[in-house]
Amino acid sequence: MSLDRQFLFIGGEWVEPRASGRIDVINATTEDVLGTVPEACESDVDHAVNSARTAFESGWGQSDPSVRADVLDRFADALEKRGPELTRLVSQQNGMPHDLSEQFEGSYVIAVFRYYAELTRKMQFEELRPSPLGFSTAVRRHPVGVVAGIVPWNYPVLLAATKIAPALAAGCTIVIKPSPGTVLDSFVLAEAAREAQIPDGVVNWVPGGRELGAYLVSHPGVDKVAFTGSTGAGRAIGEVCGRLLRPVSLELGGKSAAIILDDADLGSVTEGLMGASLPNNGQTCMACTRILAPSSRYDEVVDAIATWASSLTVGDPLESGTQIGPLASKEHRDRVERYIALGRDSGARVVAGGGRPATHPRGWFVEPTVFANVTNSEVIARDEIFGPVLAILKYDGEDDAVRIANDSDYGLGGTVWSADHERALEVARRVDTGTLGINGYVLDYNAPFGGVKSSGLGREFGPEAIAGYQQLKSIYQAG
Ligand code: NAD
Repeated sequence: MSLDRQFLFIGGEWVEPRASGRIDVINATTEDVLGTVPEACESDVDHAVNSARTAFESGWGQSDPSVRADVLDRFADALEKRGPELTRLVSQQNGMPHDLSEQFEGSYVIAVFRYYAELTRKMQFEELRPSPLGFSTAVRRHPVGVVAGIVPWNYPVLLAATKIAPALAAGCTIVIKPSPGTVLDSFVLAEAAREAQIPDGVVNWVPGGRELGAYLVSHPGVDKVAFTGSTGAGRAIGEVCGRLLRPVSLELGGKSAAIILDDADLGSVTEGLMGASLPNNGQTCMACTRILAPSSRYDEVVDAIATWASSLTVGDPLESGTQIGPLASKEHRDRVERYIALGRDSGARVVAGGGRPATHPRGWFVEPTVFANVTNSEVIARDEIFGPVLAILKYDGEDDAVRIANDSDYGLGGTVWSADHERALEVARRVDTGTLGINGYVLDYNAPFGGVKSSGLGREFGPEAIAGYQQLKSIYQAG
């Protein structure tokens, strides 16, 4: 089946693009062109924003929550049918091991849509609040309006879902700009939207690069921006939204710490690090890529992690059992390899990997790489590398571990590993971060997810995410 596409999904229909630009999507494993799609132009963005505005004003913005909940459930059903197609596409595009793609780009996404459908049915959109002044006030939650949703390439389906689901739950309409490197899955999402009979214009897609994204962010027809991506792009978008006084949520980068306490069972730690530190070949925002080990057990921790990393199965992401696939693009691999070179130059010791696997001459593979003897001031301990590269740092006592964990520009994820749950919880409470896992990291869509410091503003997931797509209005009923 050809993966090439000719039309854009705007206003509930497949329409001719208004310009002739095309985007080639490359297979991360074979380096061949996987599919080619139209690149939207500014005029297509105008069309999409206008369609979203019309849909918002002609009914969706005032629709009954039960209608919106039914739409979200129908979308989940339509996505479920397309699960195998979507998850395969994601793995081909960005190298995500297919077992992970099935989990996070398939079943998790479907569960997220059903979860927001249920929340929409139960949610109170207006509350009558007694006033201490002797009358009552109606506090209403209005949808903010037309949303621009900007999505990166690492979890393209999930990160579109984390915007579409709460936006629709709130009564907003949305224009999604996917990342050009992983744009193919967005056409499958659009087919699902059509099958689910999402009202015309409620969800629209405009494939394109950062310039098109910037055009969408500052478009006069947009009421809110929901962005996931790098901290640099997030700052640029935040500046624009600040000037326009436009609500914005920013889900940005991270450099999270895994704090291994001195009583931790190292067998359980290495078992859990796959999900906590190297999911999606390390191309995960909350990945714990700084491993903090107690000085009393430092050598033991380094040995255990080096042995574990060297044993990981590197290969074709579509093959069952693959744990590490290729990186998403040649440019991205070049960037990760530059960081590995910086790590070597810093005097840190490579204890696992450090190069390209000889078994895979094609595809943008990098071996799972572990550096020991890293201090927190080194570049490889401070910058987000976004690949399978871990740095093991030494600490002396819990206060020192917390100090090092918090000595970072970022604050998105984190883990604490210990045989003593209460002790781990005490340490967890002291880490400056938006999310943290004890003895593992499992993303809970019923709880808010997001960052502090340079990891961003606002929260996705949980009922809290819906609030990001609402404006509050108080109607004082004094007379
Ligand atoms: P990126 O910032 O380069 O691009 C993200 C998206 O924004 C793309 O669609 C891109 O075209 C668009 N874009 C870039 N600059 C823009 C601008 N000035 N205006 C409007 N749109 C713009 O990021 P990426 O390389 O695609 O993704 C990797 C980054 O995303 C990492 O830093 C990672 O940590 C972060 N991320 C964060 C989360 C989170 O929830 N906090 C989740 C996943 C990824």
